[in-house]
Amino acid sequence: MRKQIAAANWKMNLTYQQGEKLLDDILGAKIELAPHQFTLFAVPYPYLLMTRSEVQEEQHYYAASQNCYHKKSGAYTGEVSAEMIHSLGINYCIVGHSERREYFSENNAVLAEKVDLCFEHFITPVFCCGESLEIRETGTQNHYVAAQLKDSLFHLPEEKIKDIIIAYEPVWAIGTGKTATTEQAQEMHRFLRSVVASKYGETIADQVPILYGGSVKANNAKELFSCPDVDGGLVGGASLVSADFIEIIKALK
Ligand code: PEP
Repeated sequence: MRKQIAAANWKMNLTYQQGEKLLDDILGAKIELAPHQFTLFAVPYPYLLMTRSEVQEEQHYYAASQNCYHKKSGAYTGEVSAEMIHSLGINYCIVGHSERREYFSENNAVLAEKVDLCFEHFITPVFCCGESLEIRETGTQNHYVAAQLKDSLFHLPEEKIKDIIIAYEPVWAIGTGKTATTEQAQEMHRFLRSVVASKYGETIADQVPILYGGSVKANNAKELFSCPDVDGGLVGGASLVSADFIEIIKALK
């Protein structure tokens, strides 16, 4: 059975104390996850250790990094490497969030390097892709998103690609309150799976979890996650409110 994942992306929000309280509240809900379901908390770097220790007694709850640098090590003041993240006992990392692409000019080639460094250090990348409103309005979203996958992931061998997590996040839906319809989400997720299948075959494509991101809320998560090719969500705003994120975790299928 394919993994189903609720991934929180706190972005640059919450103090350390607020983050600790949020985790206590969510974990305090004692949601029992099935073996194929899990929850990730992608928190700011300074909160990774605290998050790891909060979840360590829990089954199926993990800390994740929101980013890593695309170089191994060296004179890159202020940056954090995949090796450093691994050395904290963190096994997941978001790569290529649209905010990184937009504000930090991360392109498909740089993201391919990050993906490689993650795998080199036993970190599962949560690879984000998605089109802007302009691209969707010209109807070229499939071509655009397929190129993001091909340019950053298709150099990977089969045994690596089957471990990746993809997050489809239409940029026009992130933080805007404007969610893709279930039809739009399912159509794109099915297409992305077919792109993976075209290179790696159906068996591998069927194993890759594809999360939807973009204004997932407590009141729309169940419907979105019910789509056959939607395997959970990458959640920004609603992951900062314990009651909302609890409902989102419960909506996993
Ligand atoms: C995100 O941060 O990846 C995201 C989808 O944000 P939001 O849920 O707030 O739209």
